[in-house]
Amino acid sequence: PQLSSATLASLGGSLSVPSYDRSSVRTGIVHLGVGAFHRSHQAMYLDRLMEQGQARDWGICGVGVLPSDRRMAEVMAAQDCLYTLVVKHSDGRFDARVVGSVVEYLLAPDDPDAVVEKMAAEGTRIVSLTVTEGGYNIGAVTGEFDPTHPDVVSDLRPGAALRTSFGLVTEALVRRRDRGLPPFTVVSCDNIQHNGDVARRSFAAFATLRDPDLGAWVEREVPFPNSMVDRITPATTDDDRAEVARRFGVDDAWPVVCEDFTQWVLEDRFGLGRPPLEDSGVQIVDDVDPYERMKLRLLNASHQALAYLGHLAGYRLVHDAAQDPLFRRFLLGYMEGEATPTLRPVPGIDLEDYRRTLIARFSNPHIRDTLARLAFDGSERLPKWLLPVVRDQLARGGEVRRSAAVVAGWARYSEGVDEEGRPIEIADRRRDPLMAAARREREEPLAFLADRALFGDLADDERFTGPYLAALASLHERGARATLEALVVDAL
Ligand code: NAD
Repeated sequence: PQLSSATLASLGGSLSVPSYDRSSVRTGIVHLGVGAFHRSHQAMYLDRLMEQGQARDWGICGVGVLPSDRRMAEVMAAQDCLYTLVVKHSDGRFDARVVGSVVEYLLAPDDPDAVVEKMAAEGTRIVSLTVTEGGYNIGAVTGEFDPTHPDVVSDLRPGAALRTSFGLVTEALVRRRDRGLPPFTVVSCDNIQHNGDVARRSFAAFATLRDPDLGAWVEREVPFPNSMVDRITPATTDDDRAEVARRFGVDDAWPVVCEDFTQWVLEDRFGLGRPPLEDSGVQIVDDVDPYERMKLRLLNASHQALAYLGHLAGYRLVHDAAQDPLFRRFLLGYMEGEATPTLRPVPGIDLEDYRRTLIARFSNPHIRDTLARLAFDGSERLPKWLLPVVRDQLARGGEVRRSAAVVAGWARYSEGVDEEGRPIEIADRRRDPLMAAARREREEPLAFLADRALFGDLADDERFTGPYLAALASLHERGARATLEALVVDAL
């Protein structure tokens, strides 16, 4: 049957369903950007709590900020916000559960005021976000909010129909303040180092553009805890939908599939309370920094290596590349020799074990994550995940050859043609300038690195340009495989 509240009781058997009464769950969290990840991670933790009889006033109201979220809005409406979460273990076992913690969904472009009012409502105490790394509108090198973005400009016009997270959240904060309600806590769950601090900077910058006093108030009064989030969650495919119907007998228009690993490390800075998340496996800590550094520099930066060099070597799926011994050695070499020396000790974590586990997670053949997903918006990712490793290594006189090869891989990939002469589809908000620079690099080898908004002054540092130019020349002359082979042999 089609998944909905009415059919829930008839499911069960091969998958678990909420045993709690969803009609008694009240909204306490408004979440912007209900994509694959929110549904495999935060909503799953809340659903666990609800299943334990807790968090009944921490239901989630999902919000789609962009017009492209219309399809999600339709599915959520048709399915009473229910969806199937399929956890795929590496041994081939699948666990399926219908998640019930999302109880409402609003599409902002249809009715921005309803979204603002939902966030301004007294019961709303947390506004969380997964709006992608680019969703904070911050320059990679400057770290500054970009006030020239057309949607931001539009949202600053009095009376405009609000289009951005910044416009919606700020208006809700203003209404709360006017009504004598304290501000909610803003929880960023995007893969950005110091995501809470970055969110604070963006939202305070937007509020300052509206009114400097308002900006100072946001800066001072709104809590923005940092968090580290981790669960590999690919985009849902038609095969996934068919598989959910076949294996679990449920007709779900938008299930989510993910790996079994999950981690959420969160700072305990909430103005109006929070769900008892520690009871569902969330690690509540004073300082997230060592965890997020570890995760972004080991996992996410390795994903960037796989995305570009893997594609050039002919792979399209993450596990195929990660199972290749050449890539394993390259990734382990990067992690051990370049990323790990830049980490602080991470309480309770054995880094060698963490690195090995990452390779195993990447190699899970059931997830079928794509290199194309990892390469999406590289200009918002590689500078945030890999370049901090490069800068720290240069500062301490450490090795950067493998990092430089990954950046060269991105440059070579951005030429838009693979090693067999087939086109590469570049999906990036900076596609045109990236491709234009990459296409000049055969004559002008530093052309790609010259973009200071992405790379700062790396093009001026010979300790980086030396290995970068060597890797780029090798990619051009000998290809990705031979380039990696030389790097893993050299490292021995
Ligand atoms: P997704 O494509 O399924 O969903 C992205 C959501 O963000 C959509 O609802 C989209 O409309 C919204 N969005 C994009 N840009 C926006 C903007 N400028 N303003 C407002 N909303 C915007 O992607 P996903 O898998 O859910 O991943 C989203 C983010 O979650 C990632 O970028 C990452 O920071 C974080 N994350 C993802 C994973 C994962 O494995 N998928 C793991 C850890 C963290």
